[in-house]
Amino acid sequence: VAESSKIAAIYDAAKSSKEVIVVTHISPDADAVGSSLGLALLLEKNGIEANCFFSEKLPVKLLSLVDKNRVFFAEDELIEKLNNGALLIGVDCATKKRLGEVVYKNFSLAKATINIDHHASNENWGELNWVVPDAAATAEMIFGFSNSLSLKLNSDIANLLYAGILDDTGSFCFSNTSGKTLRVSADLIDAGANPAEISNNLYFQVPEKVWRLRSKSLLTLRLEHQGRVGLMFVTQEMLNETGCLSEDTEGLVDIIRSIQGVEVAFFVREIENGFKVSARSKNPEIDVNSFASFFGGGGHKAAAGFTIVDNLDTALDLITKKSKDILV
Ligand code: AMP
Ligand code: MN
Ligand code: MN
Repeated sequence: VAESSKIAAIYDAAKSSKEVIVVTHISPDADAVGSSLGLALLLEKNGIEANCFFSEKLPVKLLSLVDKNRVFFAEDELIEKLNNGALLIGVDCATKKRLGEVVYKNFSLAKATINIDHHASNENWGELNWVVPDAAATAEMIFGFSNSLSLKLNSDIANLLYAGILDDTGSFCFSNTSGKTLRVSADLIDAGANPAEISNNLYFQVPEKVWRLRSKSLLTLRLEHQGRVGLMFVTQEMLNETGCLSEDTEGLVDIIRSIQGVEVAFFVREIENGFKVSARSKNPEIDVNSFASFFGGGGHKAAAGFTIVDNLDTALDLITKKSKDILV
């Protein structure tokens, strides 16, 4: 009940605005792109002008999802739209900071701000906050939004939302996959989503250089605490050697996670000022969101992230030592 009134309030706010701008978290993943563009297309289809603003180039593997017409990258354009009374909706983003510097800086120009998300660590950064930690993906919530308002989907929207759910559930393998997740996914397929095409675009078009990078990274594998904790890393040098980008490290944490006996996986990659850590838990008793929040990050119980501003050896040692505390 509370949820449907939130949905109605969001829809009313969108309808009464001249325009809606949908934004999402930095380093966007398939749920970020799928739920933001899915929402924008859904609003547009129902007579509300809506566009997505991204402050950085999108990962190549997500470009297949993107409708160029509904996406813009220029800060000037963002400022102009916000000054003209656009409503700002952020999706799949736990904190105001993770909206990225450009949105963060211009945030106060928005007529109103709405936060739609499924992260347990969400800070309720919007004026209106619709946060559902039980949802497998923000895309699952956007489907609920559409369904609750009896809006019509088309195959483009269905593909976007399906991609978000597929990716955030690790292709329906993770503990966030619920009966609802599968029912929503089935409805999306009935509405025109093409599961084979989406999986193919997201997972089965891996360039050779990315596998070369993966093989280098595998050599860095460390198993700690009787093999219950696995760590692996990628340095900037390894990216240079293989001609890869940071985005090409996606999926490496899942390789660590797949190792027998590993309960907690940490993948560490070098960024400009330190290291970005992706944490995954395979044990329902072990909460990596609280682990990540210790380092100033966040996410979900089973998947979270944080950064460490230090050198690689210190970062790896810090994670290894601290991870002993969460093994139950
Ligand atoms: P990643 O390891 O980057 O794939 O992130 C795993 C999950 O945690 C995703 O849902 C991210 O959106 C979330 N996440 C990653 N880093 C942070 C952070 N610094 N603060 C809050 N959530 C994060
Ligand atoms: Mn995301
Ligand atoms: Mn998500």
